[in-house]
Amino acid sequence: MKNYLILVVEDDPPIQHLITTTLKSRDYSFLTAATGEAAIMETASNNPDIILLDLGLPDLDGIEVISRIRSWSNVPIIVLSARSEDSDKIDALDAGADDYLTKPFSVEELLARLRVVQRRLTLMQAENNQPLYENGQLQIDYALRCVKICGEEIRLTPIEYKLLCLLAKNTGKVLTHKYIIQNVWGNPLETDVASLRVFMTTLRRKLEKGSSDIRYIQTHVGIGYQMIRV
Ligand code: CA
Repeated sequence: MKNYLILVVEDDPPIQHLITTTLKSRDYSFLTAATGEAAIMETASNNPDIILLDLGLPDLDGIEVISRIRSWSNVPIIVLSARSEDSDKIDALDAGADDYLTKPFSVEELLARLRVVQRRLTLMQAENNQPLYENGQLQIDYALRCVKICGEEIRLTPIEYKLLCLLAKNTGKVLTHKYIIQNVWGNPLETDVASLRVFMTTLRRKLEKGSSDIRYIQTHVGIGYQMIRV
């Protein structure tokens, strides 16, 4: 198994200690940074596989750290934050974070989120340039623009197809309403969250009709949607 290098960005020593002890016990390699500037420098010079990022840092706001790293890197970022407001999570996800954990969190939960990101990294490498997407009984043939459930083709409208492809290409990642609307419709002013919800409902109904109880798309209330690897 690949030995992942995790950058732990946390200015609170006891929490940093808890995280690094957990990582050490599971044979992860890690680096630490206690400020936003140090986090950006470590990312640029050591190219970590995954970043765990506290939002409340002494110098920069975590959201700014995400934006700056995203200007040149796609490294997965999991936000660890004491802020539990949805708006903070949305800001972090909009800036390009992959996932978020609200403090206090259990080490088991942290490890589970890390495994999700690792699976996504492995899949992304395997699926890059693959003409076929497969997840449980769901299959997308990108070349033919054909979607099948249990081998049966299902009919999607162009918007539903775009929504499904966007979610599939980001399997495991929470996509915010704003991100989805921008990527599917282009102009965020053209569509609102209520319309997105309607499209999502019909898409789900079509996906779930053929596959009984498998739920591929998870709703994050007030935030967005996520395609689950089933
Ligand atoms: Ca902090």
